[in-house]
Amino acid sequence: NLELGSLGQSRARFISAEESTGVTFDDFAGQEYVKRELEEVVRILKDGKEFEELGIYCPKGVLLYGPPGTGKTLLAKAIAGEAGVPFFSASGSEFVEMFVGVAAARVRDLFARARQFAPSIVFIDEIDAIGAKRGGPDIGGGGVEREQGLIQILTELDGFQSSNAKVMVVGATNRLDMLDPALLRKGRFDKTISVGLPTEEGRLAILRVHARNKGFNSEEEKEELLKEIAQQTYEFSGAELQNVLNEAAILAARKDKDIVERAELLEALKRQEGTFATGEEDVVDASGEARMRIAYREAAIALLECYFPNPWRPFTKTNVRNIDTYPNMEFSEPKNRVFSRKEDMVNHIVRACAPRIVEEQIFGRDHLSWISGSALGEAGVLADYLILRTGMTALGKVYYRTQQDLMIHLGPKVVALRDEYMRWAVEKCHSILKEYRSALETIAELLMDKEEITAAEIWEIFKKAPRIPQPEVRP
Ligand code: ADP
Repeated sequence: NLELGSLGQSRARFISAEESTGVTFDDFAGQEYVKRELEEVVRILKDGKEFEELGIYCPKGVLLYGPPGTGKTLLAKAIAGEAGVPFFSASGSEFVEMFVGVAAARVRDLFARARQFAPSIVFIDEIDAIGAKRGGPDIGGGGVEREQGLIQILTELDGFQSSNAKVMVVGATNRLDMLDPALLRKGRFDKTISVGLPTEEGRLAILRVHARNKGFNSEEEKEELLKEIAQQTYEFSGAELQNVLNEAAILAARKDKDIVERAELLEALKRQEGTFATGEEDVVDASGEARMRIAYREAAIALLECYFPNPWRPFTKTNVRNIDTYPNMEFSEPKNRVFSRKEDMVNHIVRACAPRIVEEQIFGRDHLSWISGSALGEAGVLADYLILRTGMTALGKVYYRTQQDLMIHLGPKVVALRDEYMRWAVEKCHSILKEYRSALETIAELLMDKEEITAAEIWEIFKKAPRIPQPEVRP
């Protein structure tokens, strides 16, 4: 259908239109519940009449929210593909230009086209760019413009009551909290579905999808390798997993091979991990003094992890590659459900102090750096959580409807109790690091030397190192 295909280019370049996406739910893996929810939507979209007789109407809008690269766009295309309807898409950020009136006109245009070819799907990516809360800070300017665009979207959503022009809108965002509540009201985005990062099982399923068109030695080897990669890719998105496989295939091709083997996969994985570090955060090259500070920080965190082992989420390895306020220590995927006792939470507060305390001990109070700046603040947040949310402290359960009420009635008590926890945590942290000073230095030196060390190496040092007895620290 030429007419449809050319729409994208001629009158509104920012809208892309596809007669059929050809994408199906088989292309999406790893989050079965998301698929189940959307399969239902597709059924209603396809057999609207039957469902309407039962009083079931197609949701007007479905909002998919979750981190980038988790397959939201893919899902929107799959809805269109499965239902066999055309797909119109635009990105929220493209609507917004400096010329007043453009955003609203573009929204109108997009919907007019979609309606012309109804039933159809309209996909708006990054909907937060246009649908951010009104009256908030005007980040990046264009506030009025955006607001008009948002109002137009609301009008469009409210407009197609008549079921013969069935257009379903799929929105995607990674900032649900930023959206204007008006968008989420009944009859607009009726359904919100969270699309999260995949679990290990999910990652394996996604890897299988993207390994379909790649050569391996054998089915067994392929399965084994994919399992290995799935284990090592905690917090990877679907898009990142796909990248690992593609990169591995490219590396293999460079060696004139038409099959992917372990070496290429591991190399590709390393490269993908590398892109995290050099990605959006401003990461400084770790050398000289900075490298030493990071080494001691990581060593201190490692020691505390050994001292208060966390069976639900053991640490796996750390390195001195990135210089950032955020620790480089890596952890395994949380096992089972986390069952935290009060002592676990209190120990967690102690652990959070480590970056600051170790800097004090090694470099001195007058030579602290920003690397550990947020550590005590984080420990304070944990203490507040323990006091205000868990009901496990001397204050008991704290019930107040507003933060203001709470501060009026309990403020001084909360502050005093937090001080008490913090004082103890700081002291305890000092004492542990002094007791294990020898292990601390060994781990830090090994880190500077080898750049990366594993949990096994750390445990070995922790168990063997001589200790310097310290007076007991009591809560
Ligand atoms: P988002 O819209 O959430 O940012 P995309 O849909 O653009 O993510 O994902 C980019 C690509 O990553 C997809 O086209 C697909 O190839 C791959 N991908 C992401 N998530 C998955 C998944 N759950 N299953 C299979 N492939 C996925």
